[in-house]
Amino acid sequence: MHAIGVDIGGTKIAVGVVDADGRIVAKLRRETQPQDPASIDAAIADAVAELAQTYEFHAIGLAAAGFASSDRNHMTFAPNIAWREYALGDKVRELVGRDDVAVVVENDGNAAGWAEYVHGAGQHAQNMTMITIGTGIGAALIVNGELVRGAYGFAAELGHMRVVPDGLPCGCGRRGCWEQYGSGSALTREARRAGIEREVRAAALLARAGGDAARIGGPDVTAAAAEGDELAIELLHDLGTWIGEGLASVAAILDPEVFVVGGGVVAAGDLLLEPARQAYAEHVPAQGLRPTTPIVAAEMGNDAGIVGAAALAREAVVG
Ligand SMILES: [Zn+2]
Repeated sequence: MHAIGVDIGGTKIAVGVVDADGRIVAKLRRETQPQDPASIDAAIADAVAELAQTYEFHAIGLAAAGFASSDRNHMTFAPNIAWREYALGDKVRELVGRDDVAVVVENDGNAAGWAEYVHGAGQHAQNMTMITIGTGIGAALIVNGELVRGAYGFAAELGHMRVVPDGLPCGCGRRGCWEQYGSGSALTREARRAGIEREVRAAALLARAGGDAARIGGPDVTAAAAEGDELAIELLHDLGTWIGEGLASVAAILDPEVFVVGGGVVAAGDLLLEPARQAYAEHVPAQGLRPTTPIVAAEMGNDAGIVGAAALAREAVVG
């Protein structure tokens, strides 16, 4: 049976028809206005109507960055879209106008994690923790085969664990959060700093950014590291170390069978993951008394949000 998965971004949406094996058989994109939630509802309904001409489905999963309430109908808050206690599920259900289609709302990190759990790197585990390294650190927790949403939909905000007392300020209003050190933004910040403070060592990175330190991006670091650039390798090593240390604390709470790491920087492979594994081994409580939890790269790529949203919606129908 097909299901629809929708990945709602700040300025565009991607709507996919997903089969039971997690394959996307059709995909549409629409531009949207982040300050105008109604434009997003309308774009979703429009794409769904177009796909309904060709495909049969009874479930629509909507995934977006932000707090999705545990009723799976409201977006409580989103950083990039003007949603405040917004009944996204109801709005889309109304516009789609079909009684035989279920609509569920999910956090995008949870959707991506569910895709990895059902179809990707976590499919043989009952207990899986996924983190996504991006602007911040997104996360999804699968415990005993169930997605953990929390009592109010605020669970799995691992990026806001405090790892440095009185550390760098964070967008959440606190200081020293993990994502200030272990995210793609942190990697870019450190690479740009090196471009200014260590101009000679950063020559390869600066060359990729047209000589402007402020234009160095994460993909520049990954590409330079792949070519053997020492500074880029060191930057990925530092990022991996922060990731591994944080995962060691997560293991103390959740004890998963596998950690899945997603996000663009995972293209660096073992240049990132091996330092993470080392730091994890050094910091995990009761090391030597417990099995070593594998830290592996995500497999589902950029489509994980669509695939996971569709899979979660399908589950809601099947029950
Ligand atoms: Zn924070």
